[in-house]
Amino acid sequence: MRAIRRLTVRPALPAPLEALGELAGNLRWAWHPATGDLFAALDPQAWESSEHDPRGVLGLVSRDRLEEAAADQEYVARVEAGRADLRAYLSTDRWYQRAAQQEAQQGAEPTSWPAAIGYLSAEFGVAAALPQYSGGLGILAGDHLKAASDLGVPIIGVGLLYTHGYFRQSLDRHAWQQEHYPLLDPNALPVQLLREDDGTPASVTLAQPGGPDLVARIWVASVGRVPLLMLDTDVKGNPQHYVDVTDRLYGGDAEHRLRQELLLGVGGLRAIREYCRITGHAAPEVFHLNEGHAGFLGIERLRELTVADDGPRLDLEAALEVGRASTVFTTHTPVPAGIDRFPRTLVEQYFADHGGVTPGVPTERVLALGSEGYEGGDPGVFNMAVMGFRLAQRANGVSRLHGHVSREMFNGLWPDFDIDEVPITSITNGVHAPTWVARDVLGLAAVRGADPDGDDTSAFWRAVEEVPDAELWSVKRAQRERLVSEVRRRLRASWLQRGATPAELGWTEEVLDPDVLTIGFARRAASYKRLTLMMRDPARLTRLLLDPERPVQLVIAGKAHPADDGGKRLIQQIVQLSDDPELRHRIVFLPDYDIAMAQPFYPGCDVWLNNPLRPYEACGTSGMKAALNGGLNLSVLDGWWDEWFDGANGWAIPSADGLEDPDHRDDVEAAALYGLVEREVAPRFYDTDAAGVPTRWTDMLRHTLLSLCPKVLASRMVRDYVRQLYAPATASARALGADHAGAVALAGWKQRVREGWHAVRVEHVEGSGAAQGEVDVPEVGDTLTVRAFVALGALAPADVAVQLVQGRAGEADDILEPTTADLGLAEELGGGRYRYEGSVELAAAGPFGYTVRVLPHHAALAAPAELGLVTYPR
Ligand SMILES: *Cc1c(COP(=O)(O)O)cnc(C)c1O
Repeated sequence: MRAIRRLTVRPALPAPLEALGELAGNLRWAWHPATGDLFAALDPQAWESSEHDPRGVLGLVSRDRLEEAAADQEYVARVEAGRADLRAYLSTDRWYQRAAQQEAQQGAEPTSWPAAIGYLSAEFGVAAALPQYSGGLGILAGDHLKAASDLGVPIIGVGLLYTHGYFRQSLDRHAWQQEHYPLLDPNALPVQLLREDDGTPASVTLAQPGGPDLVARIWVASVGRVPLLMLDTDVKGNPQHYVDVTDRLYGGDAEHRLRQELLLGVGGLRAIREYCRITGHAAPEVFHLNEGHAGFLGIERLRELTVADDGPRLDLEAALEVGRASTVFTTHTPVPAGIDRFPRTLVEQYFADHGGVTPGVPTERVLALGSEGYEGGDPGVFNMAVMGFRLAQRANGVSRLHGHVSREMFNGLWPDFDIDEVPITSITNGVHAPTWVARDVLGLAAVRGADPDGDDTSAFWRAVEEVPDAELWSVKRAQRERLVSEVRRRLRASWLQRGATPAELGWTEEVLDPDVLTIGFARRAASYKRLTLMMRDPARLTRLLLDPERPVQLVIAGKAHPADDGGKRLIQQIVQLSDDPELRHRIVFLPDYDIAMAQPFYPGCDVWLNNPLRPYEACGTSGMKAALNGGLNLSVLDGWWDEWFDGANGWAIPSADGLEDPDHRDDVEAAALYGLVEREVAPRFYDTDAAGVPTRWTDMLRHTLLSLCPKVLASRMVRDYVRQLYAPATASARALGADHAGAVALAGWKQRVREGWHAVRVEHVEGSGAAQGEVDVPEVGDTLTVRAFVALGALAPADVAVQLVQGRAGEADDILEPTTADLGLAEELGGGRYRYEGSVELAAAGPFGYTVRVLPHHAALAAPAELGLVTYPR
């Protein structure tokens, strides 16, 4: 029988247990196991069947059990203590408050740490109970919020609440991926509707082409101290095609996606304004766009600043400066197909007629912000990443290597600059330890007095040094054992779903062995991740798996995008291999990779495998989670591993970067992978001492924890964002003045410089002193004095910097690793001409080259290349 309607009934808690409602209402339970314990104790079965969701427990627990628990004074006291702990967590000063105060005391300047930050992302992976993510990007956003909460960073998160989330994966008989879209009732999710004081739901509206306004509600998830606003269009009165806007993550056609992104960016800013108005929360001084999806926020800000009634109206160019100064853009992928691009005409529809969705902002200007107006760009395309760079004064990639690759990839926006000067920096991603580290592993340090919640996380990891090998190893084995039983449970469930009968499934109880070297591999089935590289030579893989002395077992998981049949075929190949009765006890594919599966997965692995096509993995975070749990990485030097592999904390799979033929490249890299496992990984794992402990392995494990743990933490990442991007952005924004006078001046200056730049010339350069080079060859330590004669046309010396650029000279007279020094104005020659002078010491022997260049100069610029203008001698 099918229900015609479905509701979620909220439990009525007996008065002594009211605190449970408060505890379930804040997602901090997702990374605070002691809170979870309270719900597990209430009803252990419901705790398991709800997949560890406190709200689910409260929905399932019987009235009798609640009454019983309410009469249990010890339990009630624990619940009260849990609530007191949560309230203290939410209200007392944390790192951000303390560090901001210290900064303020040290410097005479008031601190430029922002009062609040708006953080926008198309997906958030906060907890299994709030499935609003597809993979790494969402998990990262979730970890960003959780770490910000722990550190006290005043972030307001903004995303969408998708009715079906992403899909859930299962397999059919033929190992073909099946997708399910469960209906998520917001009333059963850990979110609350944002309401006005009188109880009516708050909402935002967006004008739509040729239709009524679209209305969205605002749900709030409490992620510890951080509110996460989630917009949802399943609102009475919306036509069905509006309701569908938030149906699912990354589904539908280009227009569907554009509508979602308009809701996220434009609606997202409106939701922040509503939230701040209703709750009195400080308004964000900085906006962080997590990937290009959220870029339309910048257009809505233009509307606010240029046409809003309450406040000074700026002209568009000045408004752009205000927006840029206070916006940070993070790009997440070097895969061209991963960049959001829309037909220009489609975007035009939504912004036509006096700005459409952002009334008053000129359509042409919006289109220009997303245009690929550079060599190789497509004039018919609106590019969200490009718009992100234009709307944000500060931008970053997500690992050192990805920073470099992004500078190369987007060089076209600053064509006159070398790659290294393209203004895209990098902050390497991190992961949230309290979410991802197994309780037993945390316990190793906690019993030695290190506080996992403390500011000094390194003290926590240092405690690992004191743990004896045997203890480390027994914790690791327990984790492996836990994974093995989890794998058996999931495999059996998957086979039942694939149509097997219980009688056929006895073998699943024998799958995997808790004493065999366990290699994990889980990731989206995107082609650059090469899910099937390990199967390149099936005979060699089989030998590895079935080695009588040193066997290896593989646990694999990952989803393919529903529209990606290629990815589904890769999954099918793996599953078919793992269905082979000869191999199935050593190789397993687990369907439905998500947070709930991932949490016991990483700690259960000895080795974490990652073999992307370098350099397409922007950062990768799963290997970090493995490392935090004492897993050793076996990976291509891509993303974060390129940066932090130190030769002893895991293994690097050599990358055949230069090989053009992709098949040949796969052969070479797969052979290297097999070789490493055969020669290094397996022998080390099975080389045990008299007590059965592989001490060479535990040494390496300990070194992994000590070398990587402080670096891979999301708390390190969030602090980096605060210091390197949020605080400078706040300073820039404040420097433009509360009345925006500075923005008007800056916009005027930029216009004047752009108009006058054609007349800027380096007319003549003289090098004097020993380096003149005609008679003497200069020596290290000699001084080179340079004189440059520069024409500035209508510009003044204050508008420019004249620089000496010097360094080792390469084959083609290019300057390698150039350093720059400003030359000083020496003489005004009249007619807009000036002489500049300066000198440098020749620091190294060998070929040396230098040149002089002129750049725009203004205190409000964050990088020399910002305007894209530079003049070199002809
Ligand atoms: C960490 C994580 C990811 C991202 O891993 P990558 O290494 O970036 O591929 C994806 N899905 C889940 C469930 C995760 O926990």
